[in-house]
Amino acid sequence: EVKRSTEIQAARIQLPVVQDEQRIMEAIHNNLCVIISGETGSGKTTQVPQFLFEAGYGNPKSDNPGMIGITQPRRVAAVSMAQRVSAELGSLHKDAVAYQIRFEQNAKPGTAVKFMTDGVLLRELSTDFTLSRYSAIIIDEAHERNVNTDILIGVLSRVLKLRYDMSREQDPKVKPLKLIIMSATLRVTDFSMNSALFNTPPPVLNVDARQYPVSNHFNRRTPVNYLDEAYKKISKIHQRLPPGGILVFMTGQNEITNLCRRLRTAFPKKTKNGRLVKEEADASLKITANEAEIEVEDVDLGDDIIQEAFDIDNISDEEDDEIEEGFEEQTDEVNTGPLHVLPLYSLLPTAQQMKIFEAPPDNSRLCVIATNIAETSLTIPGIRYVVDCGRVKERHYTKDTGVQRFDVGWISKASADQRAGRAGRTGPGHCYRLYSSAVFESEFAQFSKAEILRMPIEGVVLQMKSMGIDTIANFPFPTPPDRNSLIDAEKLLHYLGAINSKGALTDLGRTMSVFPLAPRFAKMLVIGQQFDCLQYIIAIVAGLSVGDPFLSEHELGIEHELNNYEQTNDDADEDEVLKQMNQGDIEDNKRRRKEYYIAQRRFSGLDGSSDVLKMLSVICAYEFTNEKAEFCYKNFLRQKSMEEIHKLRQQLTHIVTINTPKLSSLKFDSKIGAPSAIQVKALKQMVTAGFIDQVVVREDLVAGFDASNSTSKVMSGNRKRVKITDIPYMRLNQYTFIKDTRFLSNRGGVDKSCIREPDVPVYIHPSSLLLSSDEMAGISEMPPFLVYNIIQQSSARHAGDDESRLRI
Ligand code: ADP
Ligand code: MG
Repeated sequence: EVKRSTEIQAARIQLPVVQDEQRIMEAIHNNLCVIISGETGSGKTTQVPQFLFEAGYGNPKSDNPGMIGITQPRRVAAVSMAQRVSAELGSLHKDAVAYQIRFEQNAKPGTAVKFMTDGVLLRELSTDFTLSRYSAIIIDEAHERNVNTDILIGVLSRVLKLRYDMSREQDPKVKPLKLIIMSATLRVTDFSMNSALFNTPPPVLNVDARQYPVSNHFNRRTPVNYLDEAYKKISKIHQRLPPGGILVFMTGQNEITNLCRRLRTAFPKKTKNGRLVKEEADASLKITANEAEIEVEDVDLGDDIIQEAFDIDNISDEEDDEIEEGFEEQTDEVNTGPLHVLPLYSLLPTAQQMKIFEAPPDNSRLCVIATNIAETSLTIPGIRYVVDCGRVKERHYTKDTGVQRFDVGWISKASADQRAGRAGRTGPGHCYRLYSSAVFESEFAQFSKAEILRMPIEGVVLQMKSMGIDTIANFPFPTPPDRNSLIDAEKLLHYLGAINSKGALTDLGRTMSVFPLAPRFAKMLVIGQQFDCLQYIIAIVAGLSVGDPFLSEHELGIEHELNNYEQTNDDADEDEVLKQMNQGDIEDNKRRRKEYYIAQRRFSGLDGSSDVLKMLSVICAYEFTNEKAEFCYKNFLRQKSMEEIHKLRQQLTHIVTINTPKLSSLKFDSKIGAPSAIQVKALKQMVTAGFIDQVVVREDLVAGFDASNSTSKVMSGNRKRVKITDIPYMRLNQYTFIKDTRFLSNRGGVDKSCIREPDVPVYIHPSSLLLSSDEMAGISEMPPFLVYNIIQQSSARHAGDDESRLRI
């Protein structure tokens, strides 16, 4: 029996979920899976585990002796919710509750209720597939649709069936497992109406929560510096508006500590004798990023606020005067009382996080500056005003290359409404949006997309393999990725050596799976630790994912007149432009093209035929120059790309050090010297290893090559020198046999099971270093094999056929 304090009891009675206890427990009793949706703050996370506990779940002497497990996407929530539930259960049972996050836990033999991150439960599944220690699993915050949660729901739908069948057939000691999926939004049909997951749709229980109206006040303009804007807005709310807590949404730790410092200076606490109190410095971090799985918001690198200006807010200066919405209740008196400013982010020590639940000191106003944690995971009491910067730090994946990066981007409209809703828990509230309604309408997506659809698919497959999930193509995803791309992803993982021919994870694959990157880059970073090449490989991966920093000839308007290709996505009226070019322009064009190639050659010192190493040289040289803009102008570089590469190198170094214990002391140093000859050779091999499925061979080297049958006219003639851009290469596939045995390694040669691709020739892109000294060459002087990053489709200007060109 549970004895709760009267104070706790009174607070519980207020929670909508508590009114629904009977309905919820009946549904759980009668079904293997139940979905509960309810507004944030309605009591789902703190109460539902207690309902189960009181019904005997987790009690070794009951019918359901296994533990109650609750998963959370974030560590902060796992730890603080465990503490809260422990406190609510009272002294008799407080030891029944524990939490477990990676590398840290306080579970003991008597634990009945265990809060954990979803990553922890996924790891447990790989060693105990039936989850034999549990009688119920609650998947919380399912609306967030992060990859771990989605995969967990898929796996658990299978575990439910298995446990049910086992309980009926073989072993009387095995009990069925109960699954409860909880969501803060009503959008649960991906789970409830998904027949791959559940044959019979599980019941969906909606918990009605009281929600008071919240008025939204948009900014007239969308300021680039939302930190300053937030500071102004908070000051004004505090000075002018009636009592009530303020909750501010920012994107990361740097912004939060900065804003806290400014607000504490502006509205300091006073002691009884009127002297200022110095805020205690933040205690040292309890959980360091090194010890735990990375959460997006942990990655804080320099200034978060790099945002482009928004032309969309078309407001003249006269219009932009003092009219500011949402201050109608404004008092004439100016409040100069203290502001009780509290930060809230994932790496803050737990004791400090928990301060948000305490009442602020008398006569002061509570002001919590939080990351996205406060959107649905934690409900802060007494909030009447919300200030929303409209941004969130997110993992983004570069299209094509799948490199992960951490960027600040717009939230969805649904998130904006969630954030606003935090102001309406205890009474009517106000939400101040630091962006215009025009930006909101045009830039914000309706909902955020399931993370699994935004991730590189090979990365998802590798992650699942590392969890021991072997049949990926038939896996019951809540939102399934394309089936063929899953099959292709498995093939690629096989070529990369991450899985064996039976589809099982290899040792290399296990090491690769630790890196939250596209597997080809993970492989490069793993093998790149040899020959002291890591810094170079990191720079190369950063460069490849941002894209070639050299302006293309095309962008410069200095395309070779004879180049008969054109990028498909370009303006159609380019022909017109060319026609109008007069002789002077053509001369000018020639001169600039020459300069362009000179610039290219300047960086060819490491290797005269490698565009990747040319890029590496540029990346290294850029860091040593003080005149960045001039350097870029002189060398035909995009400065924006160079800056992005710099930033990404820093992020990648961080990712490598976090995931490789022996490298934990590696520091990011942007200035690195030139690689040695051996390193250059190693780097070329490492890049090839990462792009092993993207190798081409010169057409004349393919067995069975017949010059008279070649699609390329240069191959049929007997000319000594031909245009480099006309020399055909063939992609390696299972039908490709190489004539010349010199090119076959003694380990059995080119993998004959390489990719299946149509048998059409591809050509070198004119931006390649291979063209920088001469546009003509003898066929046999050209490299027999090339590795490419992307194949660019282009429509031939004269021929009308599609041509494919290789680019780094
Ligand atoms: P939900 O999961 O539905 O969003 P919760 O169970 O997290 O709701 O929260 C229910 C209530 O419990 C909220 O009002 C919240 O403020 C309160 N609460 C949660 N943790 C604490 C705590 N440590 N101290 C005081 N109140 C808390
Ligand atoms: Mg919750």
